[in-house]
Amino acid sequence: MIHKVVIIGSGPAGLTAALYAARANLAPVVIRGLQPGGLIATTSEVENYPGFPDAINGFDLAEKMEKQAARFGTSFIDGIVQSVDFSERPFTLTVDNGTTVQAETVIVSTGASPRKLGVPGELELANRGVSYCAVCDGFFFREKKLVVVGGGNSALDEGLFLTRYASEVVIIHRRDQLRADPVLQARAQANPKITFVWDSVVTAIKGETGVTGVALKNVKTGEATEMAADGVFPYIGHIPNTALFKGQLELDENGYVISDGRTRTNVPGVFVAGDVEDHVYRQAITAAGTGCMAAMEASWFLDKQDHVQEALGTW
Ligand code: NAP
Repeated sequence: MIHKVVIIGSGPAGLTAALYAARANLAPVVIRGLQPGGLIATTSEVENYPGFPDAINGFDLAEKMEKQAARFGTSFIDGIVQSVDFSERPFTLTVDNGTTVQAETVIVSTGASPRKLGVPGELELANRGVSYCAVCDGFFFREKKLVVVGGGNSALDEGLFLTRYASEVVIIHRRDQLRADPVLQARAQANPKITFVWDSVVTAIKGETGVTGVALKNVKTGEATEMAADGVFPYIGHIPNTALFKGQLELDENGYVISDGRTRTNVPGVFVAGDVEDHVYRQAITAAGTGCMAAMEASWFLDKQDHVQEALGTW
């Protein structure tokens, strides 16, 4: 069977694409992937998704999105896509459960994963003081001391955002020069709540049931120290989940899928939505927006193909 639309990934981008494709009678298939519901499903409270004035648990939000997409005829495959062949249509996708799926169009919404520090305590204290989303979780750290790791735009942007809540934000950077844009550097340096620890890396995150501090090492002197903190926000970059598409889709130097601003990739019939393409906003609502766009583009693409085939008499 050749599906009209197959969506890879089940975060807000993929599920919104599914909703729109289903309502266009395209009977989409969503391949759920490694993290069903996407990153949002791992967030405790979502307070910035419109329509939920009292906040909603991220898992519940993802579940509602999935139900809404299913209601209009989306079907789901539990599995991880292992390989894709975008060289000819129908496209072929191989799933780790042994299924081979064929599709007229594919929407890539595999998301991006925050780069991990890879230190003891990081995984154990995730969502218990370790967070990768200041916009999602900053509110829970009112009058707390926070550590932000990294020296790029995200670290400074999110560090500045966290000063709305925190009593103190300490930015720990492995060098003595920031990578972030000068305007952000100036703003962070002028903020009385922000201090910097230079030339240092986090070697462990401390705490039993919640974060109590971090262990640090000065990379120049080798000196090891400890610092008390109530939360840790690593912002050391994101890794778009695009390993699967190397050599088939055009990727930028950081591995994000390149689109033409209308979710179209370099392969006609393959569209992209959400964080796998967006390295700027990275919000559930923006992912949902591009998911909608990708489904509409896929629908228009299919309409056009039908007209061409009709004109050629091969339809
Ligand atoms: P980024 O620019 O790649 O910066 C990552 C930072 O983390 C760098 O300072 C890097 O140190 C540090 N780092 C990397 N691996 C590390 C490790 N293992 N341990 C400790 N530190 C580590 O990533 P980003 O800040 O997430 O930004 C990604 C993209 O989005 C960029 O293009 C950025 O400009 C853009 N962005 C823009 C804005 C804005 O314009 N307001 C806001 C957010 C993001 P080094 O500096 O030593 O390499």
